Amino acid sequence: MCPASKPEVRVLLLAAPGAGKGTQGMRLAERIGGVHLAAGDLLREQVRDGTPLGRRVSEHLDRGELVPDELVVELILPAIEAAAARGGYVLDGFPRNVAQARAAGERGVALDRVVHLQAPGGELRRRLLARAEKEGRSDDTPEVIDRRLRLYAQETQPLVDHYRERGIVADVDADRPAGEVADDIVRALGVA
Ligand code: AMP
Repeated sequence: MCPASKPEVRVLLLAAPGAGKGTQGMRLAERIGGVHLAAGDLLREQVRDGTPLGRRVSEHLDRGELVPDELVVELILPAIEAAAARGGYVLDGFPRNVAQARAAGERGVALDRVVHLQAPGGELRRRLLARAEKEGRSDDTPEVIDRRLRLYAQETQPLVDHYRERGIVADVDADRPAGEVADDIVRALGVA
C-alpha cells in the first residue's frame, strides 16, 4: 500500500460484554472518523436477514459461543477493507481471539492502537441484565451472560497481552458514565 492511501484511523476496542464497546465504538468513530464495525451487529444482521450464513451462526449467538473463526473472518474482512479505503476503522468485537488476530494480520488488517476497556465483573453482569430488559437480546439471559463473560476471559483477554507486547494498548476505566469514558478514550489515543 502506498503511504498516501494509508487509512487515518485503525483502532480496535477490546472489552468484555457489557463494558460499553458498542456505545464507545460509535462515539469514537464519530469523533475521530473511520467506520465503526461491530462484528456482533454484522452477525445479528445476517441472522435477521435469514441468509445462509445467518442460519449457520444463529445457534452460536443464542448460546453465547464464538462463531467459528473462518465464518466471522469471511464476513468482516471485506467490510474492513472497504472501511480502510474510506479513511479507516474502529473495530468492535473483532478480532476476538488470537487466531482471528493472526488471520486478520495475514490479510493485511493493521492496527495502530488498541483501547482496552475495563470494568468489574459484577458491574458487567448488572449492565447486561439491565440491557436484557430494554433490548431483549437472545444472549442476554443470566446463564448465557455468564458463559460470554467466561469466554471473554478465556479467549479474548489473551489478546490484550498479544497487543500489549507491541506497545499499542491504552487501558481505560469503563466503570464510569459513558461520557467520561468517551473523553478518556480520546485522551488516551492522544487525539483530544
Ligand atoms: P457482541 O455483539 O460483540 O456482544 O457479540 C455477540 C455475539 O456474536 C457473541 O457472543 C458471539 O456469538 C458472536 N461474535 C461477535 N464477534 C465475534 C467474533 N469476532 N468471533 C466469533 N463470534 C463473534
